[in-house]
Amino acid sequence: MANKNIVILGGDGIGPEVTAWGNDVLKNIADAFGHTFSFQNHLIGHAAIEATGNPLPDETLDACKAADAILLGAVGHPMYDNDPSKKVRPEQGLLKIRKSLGLYTNIRPIQIFDELAHASSIKPEILMGSDILFFRELTGGIYFGEPRERQEDGEVAVDTMRYSKMEVRRIAEKAFDAAMTRRKILHSIDKANVLESSRLWRETVNEVAKDYPEVKLVHMFIDNAAMQLIKDPKQFDVVVTGNMFGDILTDEASQIAGSLGMLASASVGDSVGIYEPIHGSAPDIAGQNKANPLATILSTALLLDISFGMKEESQAVIDAVDAVLKDGFRTADIAESTTPKDKILGTDAIGQQVVDRIKAAVAS
Ligand code: NAD
Repeated sequence: MANKNIVILGGDGIGPEVTAWGNDVLKNIADAFGHTFSFQNHLIGHAAIEATGNPLPDETLDACKAADAILLGAVGHPMYDNDPSKKVRPEQGLLKIRKSLGLYTNIRPIQIFDELAHASSIKPEILMGSDILFFRELTGGIYFGEPRERQEDGEVAVDTMRYSKMEVRRIAEKAFDAAMTRRKILHSIDKANVLESSRLWRETVNEVAKDYPEVKLVHMFIDNAAMQLIKDPKQFDVVVTGNMFGDILTDEASQIAGSLGMLASASVGDSVGIYEPIHGSAPDIAGQNKANPLATILSTALLLDISFGMKEESQAVIDAVDAVLKDGFRTADIAESTTPKDKILGTDAIGQQVVDRIKAAVAS
């Protein structure tokens, strides 16, 4: 029995439509397992700019700092996308909240629901059974290192790939901890044959490994990892890597899973974490009851597991999503040409199917 305070940041576009179902799932999990979850909705992104002129109002940040966990939809609006001159922008809200909360680890599970193996461009027999947990470093590396500038009359540009042992150690520990709860295999991805920062990365991961003798540590170069991910995804269990390598590998991995509408993520540091689908605000389908809410619902499973340590509750959410898919229900983005019309559901109907499965599972 636990009391938890959850902040919901719907954001823009389809964000509030999908977080509404994440909220409902969490409420039903709390009821089913005897917990008390309280929810507060706050503004971020374009919605916050419209209301207050600020993409991350102080009220939102204060509420997030005081929360036990945060569920986020998406930010972004077409009026900014092709107009770099706009100084106040929705994504500033996202970057500021990640920085303010010290969220240095991005966790992205790539679970391939067997029923959706057809949705990928990779052969189902290669994909089925794949289950990978990525740990991407989020606040260091080449995206943040200094100097980063244009030099010599614009003819030369420099970015700096910088890592400290502290930055590597803290994410490596999180990845090893996760590996201990799974198949106990950790792949660390770097480019240590070329980059000095990767040699420091590898050395530090080896140091951390001494505290986890049960975990089999495999070092792999990024170019090989990109190939192996497509060739034999089942060899991976937990993967840890730096910011840029992780950015590229996780997008590649999202495609082996099929649809954007199915993938959840967590950004965590040493305090409160943010849980969100990997997709954006999808303005093309916003307000039309077409968005797939399953990525957000799966984000609540991550929230329950990682922030609250509620493994049974988390599994109940994943099992409910699995049951809905097994029963043949799809949103339009994951439907096949052979899917019967009456099985293709809108946001609200598929969200309700998941909630019904959670209630039924606990009642039985
Ligand atoms: P997007 O993820 O919003 O959409 C890409 C395509 O996938 C669209 O056709 C969309 O309809 C579809 N799609 C996305 N999520 C879906 C879902 N849940 N169900 C069904 N279909 C779905 O990416 P985009 O079009 O490049 O960006 C739109 C806006 O979102 C931009 O303003 C961008 O900056 C922002 N964005 C925000 C985040 C974030 O908040 N973390 C991430 C990516 C993009």
